[in-house]
Amino acid sequence: MILDLNTVRRQKGYAKIDLPDLQGHLSLPYEIKNLIGSIEVNQWEFEKFDLLIDGSVDVLVPCDRCGQMYWQHVTLDDKELFVIGHEPNREGEEKHLSEDDISTFYTPNGRVDVIELLSEYILNSLPSKLVCSDECAGPEELLQKLEFIDLILEDQGGK
Ligand SMILES: [Zn+2]
Repeated sequence: MILDLNTVRRQKGYAKIDLPDLQGHLSLPYEIKNLIGSIEVNQWEFEKFDLLIDGSVDVLVPCDRCGQMYWQHVTLDDKELFVIGHEPNREGEEKHLSEDDISTFYTPNGRVDVIELLSEYILNSLPSKLVCSDECAGPEELLQKLEFIDLILEDQGGK
C-alpha cells in the first residue's frame, strides 16, 4: 500500500490508515497476529508531515534461550517525520527509509510505502533479547535437567 502525501495535502492535510487492513500484506520473516491500531498522518507545513504510529501486534519469534517459538507482544508507538523533497546535501536519489537518519524521511514524489515502513518498524520494535518467559530455563538449565533425569533413569534401571 502506497500513501501519497500529495493526496493527503488535498484532503485537508489529514489521513488515517487502519493497521488491521495491512496485516496480510506485511513483508516480515515472522508470522504475526492481532495487529491493531492506526497510522495518523498530519500535515504541519507545506511539505512536512507527521506519521503517528499507535498500536500493537503479536509476533511469532524464536526464544534466544531455549529456541522455542513464542508470541512476542510488541507495542507500536512512534512518530516519524516525512518531507516531500530531496534530502539536503545528498544526491537526488529516491530514499524512503534512510538508515542513518532515524526519524526524518525524504520522499521526492510524496509517496510512502506504508507496508515497507510498518514491516521495518515492527522488526525494529522487537526487544533486543527475545525470551519466551521469565521462567525460561535456557539451554544450560535444560541440559542439567536432562542429566538429572538420566541419573534417575540409570538409578532405576540398576535396580
Ligand atoms: Zn525460552
